[in-house]
Amino acid sequence: MPATPSHLMRAYARQPVSFVRGSGARLWDAQGVEYLDAIAGVAVTSLGHAHPEIAAVIAEQAATLLHTSNVFRIEWQEQLGQRLCALTGMEQAFFCNSGAEANEAALKLARLHARRRQIAAPRILVMDNGFHGRTLATLSASGNPARQSGFAPLLPGFVRLPYDDIEAVRAAAAQSPDIVAVLIEPVQGEGGIRVASADYLRALRQLCDQQGWLLMLDEIQTGLGRTGAWFGHQHAGIAPDVMTLAKALGNGFPIGACLARGAAADLFSPGQHGSTFGGNPLACRVGCSVLDIMAREQLPQRAALLGARLLAGLRRALADHPQVLAIRGQGLMVGIELDRPCNELVGRALEEQQLLITVTQGSVIRLLPPLICDERQIDDIVVRLARLLARPGAAPAKDLAHA
Ligand code: PLP
Repeated sequence: MPATPSHLMRAYARQPVSFVRGSGARLWDAQGVEYLDAIAGVAVTSLGHAHPEIAAVIAEQAATLLHTSNVFRIEWQEQLGQRLCALTGMEQAFFCNSGAEANEAALKLARLHARRRQIAAPRILVMDNGFHGRTLATLSASGNPARQSGFAPLLPGFVRLPYDDIEAVRAAAAQSPDIVAVLIEPVQGEGGIRVASADYLRALRQLCDQQGWLLMLDEIQTGLGRTGAWFGHQHAGIAPDVMTLAKALGNGFPIGACLARGAAADLFSPGQHGSTFGGNPLACRVGCSVLDIMAREQLPQRAALLGARLLAGLRRALADHPQVLAIRGQGLMVGIELDRPCNELVGRALEEQQLLITVTQGSVIRLLPPLICDERQIDDIVVRLARLLARPGAAPAKDLAHA
């Protein structure tokens, strides 16, 4: 605990550990204790900590030019836009500083799409347990009532449906002529590592085409190799109209992007959207380097191999564990669902196993290791987790209910 009272707002429930140094998938605290990072800053440091090329690029660009303003042409922004569009098949990019801000841009595109179609009170389909950010619009789009609590009135115009349920989407289409877009994660991260089926995503694409809706994919957590493909939607062989990215695009340097194609590509006109810091030379140069390294080292393919190894290892190690309900995932996005609340495992994993994990939805252990992990580190995550879960943990759900 800090010696002096903290002047930071209590927005986070923080662990009593502070890291002073990192390298690859390893972190050290001030006492020199070494930890294994199985969350990568929540899907951010996919290239690992203190990547030498990223560090060098940041130092060089900081000593050259940090910021000019979007009033001017920014060469690194042009380059990153071109690189991302070539990689994704999208046509236009808008750069910002975070995932929530990228989704704000997507939601504004949906509103402009509605205007073009002369729909005055448009609706956007979103999913139960979806997570899109903490600004008021993205919080309103998210499907977690606990996180929304206290912030009414939320933004109207969102219709929430069960995830991975195409009949629910068809029913909504039949009921409301005012729908203009769908905002969805190909794999729900905060929602408990729920993988949408390829058939569902393909049917959703078809429905969007038939109805003139924008298919807006939030790939902020799933994008950039995390699921074992460059982008989560590629597993279903579809293409979105709008796609948002952030997290791993900067490997820790803040950056977000909203990409669009087709009818969505030319919706903004000058003055309709903007961001002071968005797309500055430093952020965009880092983004270009991240793409270079990921392509050169074939990290999406690596995530697929390591993810399969992690899933198989966990399934072997936890096969007979009485508390484990399910082990699921795609690439290096893996969840272990327990039959009871297990938030305390985050602190215990740190203290007892020197392992960084997160718990989401109260009972799902979420693993998002860096894509540069080696096989030994993946196996080590399995060993440490198995040891953690072998020790007596939280009370069963039924006991807690009476606590
Ligand atoms: N969308 C998804 C799928 C996310 O996982 C997150 C963050 O966890 C966000 C949006 C919000 O991103 P940020 O925290 O950068 O605003």
